[in-house]
Order: sequence, then C-alpha cells, then structure tokens
Amino acid sequence: MDWVFNVPIKFYEYTVDEMKLRLNELTSEENIVLITSKRLIQANDLEPIIDKFGKNFTLFDESLTSLDTHLISNYFKQIREKPNMIIAIGGGTTIDFAKAISSLYEYTDNGEITIGEVVDIITSKKYLENTNPIPIIASSTTAGTGSDCTKWATVWDYDNTKKYSIDADYLYPTESWLIPELTITLPKKLTLSTALDALSHACEAYWSVSTNKIVQTLSRDAISMIVEYLPLVLEDMTNEEYRRKVYMGAFFAGLAFSNTRTTACHSISYPLTLLFGIPHGLAVSLTLGEVLKRNKEYIEDYDLFLDAWKATTADDITSWIDDVSKDIQVLKLSEFDVKREDIENIIDLTFTGGRMDNNPIIFNEKEIKEILETVY
Ligand SMILES: [Zn+2]
Repeated sequence: MDWVFNVPIKFYEYTVDEMKLRLNELTSEENIVLITSKRLIQANDLEPIIDKFGKNFTLFDESLTSLDTHLISNYFKQIREKPNMIIAIGGGTTIDFAKAISSLYEYTDNGEITIGEVVDIITSKKYLENTNPIPIIASSTTAGTGSDCTKWATVWDYDNTKKYSIDADYLYPTESWLIPELTITLPKKLTLSTALDALSHACEAYWSVSTNKIVQTLSRDAISMIVEYLPLVLEDMTNEEYRRKVYMGAFFAGLAFSNTRTTACHSISYPLTLLFGIPHGLAVSLTLGEVLKRNKEYIEDYDLFLDAWKATTADDITSWIDDVSKDIQVLKLSEFDVKREDIENIIDLTFTGGRMDNNPIIFNEKEIKEILETVY
C-alpha cells in the first residue's frame, strides 16, 4: 500500500527562557500579532516583552474557551492592518483562532467581517482560494490539542448548532514551539481533559482507515507515555519531568493524527460539546472504550496497541480511563446534564463526514444509540 507521512513544520523544543529570547528577537519585526493570555504573561514575567511589541496587537484568550463564529467576527475588528505574522501561544482554541485570522483576513474589509460572511466563507470553502495567508508560529500551552501539528481549525456555530472545519495546506504553522514548562500551571481538570483528548487522537490515528506504520509508531509512543505519566502528573502537578513526558506524548499524538484525522469518538463528541458544553477532551474520551470494543477486530497490530496501554483486553483500557478520571470527572453522560430522551437528538448530529467514515467500521444509528446508552 502506498502512503506518505507529511508534516511541513519546524519544531523547536524550548525552555521558557529560550522562548523569551525568541520573542525578544521577533519584537524587532514589523507588525506581528501576538495572541496569548494574561495568565500566561503574568505567570512567566513576559510583561517587558509584551511592552516591546508596542503598537502590535496583543489579544488575550481569557474568553477563548471555544472558537465560535461570533468571536471571530468580534475579534477581527481589533485587527485593522494585515499582520505579517501571528504568534499564538495558548490552548487549541488560541491556535485555531490564529488559523482563522490567517485564512479569513483576505476576505475582511480592513478587519471588518460579519458573522454571516464568516459562515459563508467557511462553508463554501472560499478560503481555499486565499493566496496570501498569514504565517503562524504556534506554541501549545496544553498537552493535548494537537493544533500545533495540524493544518485545520475547529469553528463552532452555536446559532445553527453546527461545527465547521477550516482546512488548508497553508494552515500548517511555519514553526511550532514545544515548551512543556508552560503546562506546569495547568489546573487538574484541564490537565485531565487535554491528556484524554491526546489519547483519543493517538487511538483514533492508530485505527483510522488512513493509518500507516509511522502513524502507528507515533501513536504507540504517545499512548505509553501518557498512560504511564498522566496518573503521576495528577498526583504531583508541578513535577517538570512528568509534565514533559505527558506533553511529548501529546505532541506525538498530534503528529500521528495530523496525517489521519480523527474517527468515530470525535464525530460522536461534536454534538455533546455543541448541545451540552461537555469539554472536548472529556467528550471524545467518553466513548473511547465503547468504540474500541467495536473496532478491535479491524485494528492492525492490535496486540502492539494493547501493549502500549499495558493492557491485555479492551476492558482494561476502559477501566484505566475510568480510574484516572473518576476523582476529577466521572465520564458518564448523566454527569453532564444530558437527559436520556436527549440521546435521539444527539444521534442525528453524530455523523460528521471525514470523521465517522474514517473509522475502520461504519456505525449505523442503532450502534451509536447503543454506545451512547452504555455511557449514559
Ligand atoms: Zn481532539
């Protein structure tokens, strides 16, 4: 079988001090937009560098828990002049926001763009004709998103209960800075949900119809690092070495799924996030065990997959996920204010093209219902 593995990004592993040096160098460049959070600036004493960015825009991601069409339209108003580069240091939403600016700027009137125009340009894929996207430097401050490794961004449309993807070859960051130290201050629940997201990326990449040997090797490394070190991080949140292991595991998972995309767990998760606000990482891992049980006979090198988990059966994996999360968030739909009668409505919205059909077997509505009822 022919396959390629392609990630055209320069990766650099930095300490916080090395990141500061790079940021300092970049302050001499013209018109760079930095997107980050006040929390991050304060926690790492970045104020003197931020001051040097001077007139260049700095947006704060306090409200960026999910990237939706309103937020894109509102935030664009702050960017009048076209930036030469965007530096995004934050979680997946922050990096996705940089990708939205990069792909949509050409279609704004000096930064003005309506919500309707945002929806139209994304759904019609007009952004693919953009020949002047803005280069991005990305640095993930959570160990899980994978957005620093991929060429797509997720955009939520709460007005129309839809989830969109902006997806273009030009959206690979030109550089990604890996800075595990930045995750030291990540709260417990976010540490859990982002790591579970990364585990889902690794598993789904492993069993995706478009998997390959490099993807599977990266996935196994990601799984074994996260499975070993996530419980240790949750016991000892400021341990730099444990944090680094989970961060690098999430990075390998990001590389793996950047070449395959995700499958049924992500597809089923979208309405859970859209309708009930379940955080992404928890929404995807809710069904991981049930999807695995149905996929397992179709997974190539399933024995090696189990080895990476230090598991002998699919049930061991489900138990591990339940155990690691139970003191922080019980992973059952009923814990998130979902009513049993909501399940019918969820099923209709779980079939996302390019995700559900990327699963090694195609689930019908009855199977999705069984999965959702089992995790209720
Ligand atoms: Zn994900």
